[in-house]
Amino acid sequence: MSGMDAIAARVAACPTGAEGEPPVVVACRELHRHFGDVRAVDGVDLTVRAGEIAALLGPSGCGKTTLLRLLAGFERPDRGTVALGGEVIASPERMLPPERRRIGMVFQDYALFPHLDVAANVGYALGRRPDRARVDAVLELVGLAGLGDRRPHELSGGQQQRVALARALAPEPELVLLDEPFSNLDAALRDRVRSEVRDILRAAGATALLVTHDQEEALSLADTVAVMCDGRVRQSGSPEEVYGSPASRWVAEFLGEIDVLPGEARSGSATCALGRVPVAGDLEGPVEVLVRPESVTVGMQRDEGEHEALVVERTFYGHDQLLVLELAGGLRVRSRSMGFPAWHPGDRLRVRLSGPVTVLAAGV
Ligand code: ATP
Repeated sequence: MSGMDAIAARVAACPTGAEGEPPVVVACRELHRHFGDVRAVDGVDLTVRAGEIAALLGPSGCGKTTLLRLLAGFERPDRGTVALGGEVIASPERMLPPERRRIGMVFQDYALFPHLDVAANVGYALGRRPDRARVDAVLELVGLAGLGDRRPHELSGGQQQRVALARALAPEPELVLLDEPFSNLDAALRDRVRSEVRDILRAAGATALLVTHDQEEALSLADTVAVMCDGRVRQSGSPEEVYGSPASRWVAEFLGEIDVLPGEARSGSATCALGRVPVAGDLEGPVEVLVRPESVTVGMQRDEGEHEALVVERTFYGHDQLLVLELAGGLRVRSRSMGFPAWHPGDRLRVRLSGPVTVLAAGV
């Protein structure tokens, strides 16, 4: 079955779904799990649709693992529900055991059996008499055809990762959970393995939820990102939405570099040290203009910016450079631009906003 056919079959099999959108595979509603005074999961609403790769992104201790364990069936909710394909699988009253949830899991350390070969590791997920043809098909899907008789220690880190993925995909689960799946790989390998994993999940037509604390990983890999903090989902949306239109200063800062310029909003626009910017909604009064460095461009010519800035610091990264600029009045803002031309501390430049900014009521 091709990836598209697999997605179509799964979409058809799923009972819920608004018109025009893939149906909902997983729905967490008002989910709570507390440990004494610690509100590890504190009222989470989360939806993952068929064929989607979703990322649950948040700092250490925000409740990601607990939420994953609630989905997998290793924790019971104190309140709220988890539904899979329209059926409630977890609530304070009802706990479907993990092995009956049709959820595949890829663990951080892969959790492969060292004494079993690759085929047996994958076959383990298919019960006592695994279908060898299915094992071979899924090994082919993950690019490991012909390596079925190797032991895990005879594979590279990236290959072990793919065995873990093959094992999770073999029983054709409704949902695949991936718990920090790239944290064991060194930086050079990580980028490659990430895109391999994304391609494999797509080819399998899988619906996946990836748990990570790595912003770049979530933004580059997922179709939707749920940003979690202190047991709650603070914002969810496409990578572009959460990065480009953060709902709060915390979300903006967690997802990337940001400078905050004080401003004043009136009649649909706000004025700040870098000029006038449009304001969504009916915001009036004191505001914070959140500016990402790549939205600030600089040049030498008058027409390259209506504001003057002094370069006080420069860091060269090869593919780009980061400048710290001082504006009139002493406010500082960063600018990220191509590595050339090279600017230096002491240079006086023209500066302007040339990308999206976010305007929030002061203190949000
Ligand atoms: P990390 O990225 O560091 O793994 P996380 O976002 O996955 O963190 P959790 O492991 O879900 O966070 O933990 C959330 C909070 O719940 C933390 O304060 C943690 O100490 C607490 N916690 C988790 N499990 C338990 C438990 N079994 N008993 C008591 N407290 C717990």
